[in-house]
Amino acid sequence: MLIRLISATFMVLCLFGCEFARENRNHQEIIRTDDLETIKSVCDEADSQTLVIFDMDNVLTEPTERAFQADLYPKIGKIVDQYREQVKKMSPPDQEKLKGAQWEIPVCLVDESMPLLIRSLQDRGIKVLMLTANPHGRIANIDSIENLCDARLLALGIDFGKSWHSVNVKRRFDTDLTIFYKGEVFTLESKEIALKRFLEHIPEQKFQKIIFVDDKRKNLEKVKNLAEKLEMDFFGIEYFRVFTKNRPKTDFSLMKERFEQLKKVVSSKTKSL
Ligand SMILES: [Mg+2]
Repeated sequence: MLIRLISATFMVLCLFGCEFARENRNHQEIIRTDDLETIKSVCDEADSQTLVIFDMDNVLTEPTERAFQADLYPKIGKIVDQYREQVKKMSPPDQEKLKGAQWEIPVCLVDESMPLLIRSLQDRGIKVLMLTANPHGRIANIDSIENLCDARLLALGIDFGKSWHSVNVKRRFDTDLTIFYKGEVFTLESKEIALKRFLEHIPEQKFQKIIFVDDKRKNLEKVKNLAEKLEMDFFGIEYFRVFTKNRPKTDFSLMKERFEQLKKVVSSKTKSL
């Protein structure tokens, strides 16, 4: 009788324990959308303990030139692949010059309303960070990629630095692969490692939730895993607006010409040196 009572009590405690653990598990979710209104409604739920993170390429900005916009790749993939193969065969200094020439292509907003959303989050006291898988420092004639990106974003009405007055403008980590600059993390590591480094440097900031907007599912999955480990809620948004927005009719022969022209820029720069 006593044994039965003990085992019944044990089972009740176990069930209660499981239920308790379930209630305390953090909420993790990833959705797909091309609609900024959906991002806005997710951000409506943010509060001062939420960190909202935006990817840069193909989320905030995209190249102004048609040949380099992401939605074109399925249609001109052969041209791009051919170009990439040719670039691979070039000498490292020429590859560097080509990278520089590509970085010189101006960018524009993916969505005109994005700066307004970011400002409204900042006005509500919510921290907003940029996390990009891009290098920093010098590339060819460009002294500082982070400076270039920050200046471009400022010109488009986005100021991530506004959220991080208490953090040093420029912060380096234990590795050269990641840097924090005016509210923007540039990394050649995986995004969750870079974010972990950044969060460890601001222990005074306690976040309970991350909202992360990126166009690549794998980045969202990785940051979700980090949030899970840190026992934070996570809301990931796979944003594919670049693939569905209205575009002008495109002359594909001109696209091929543009890649050819880009290579010529490199050879002319080489000659002039
Ligand atoms: Mg991207």
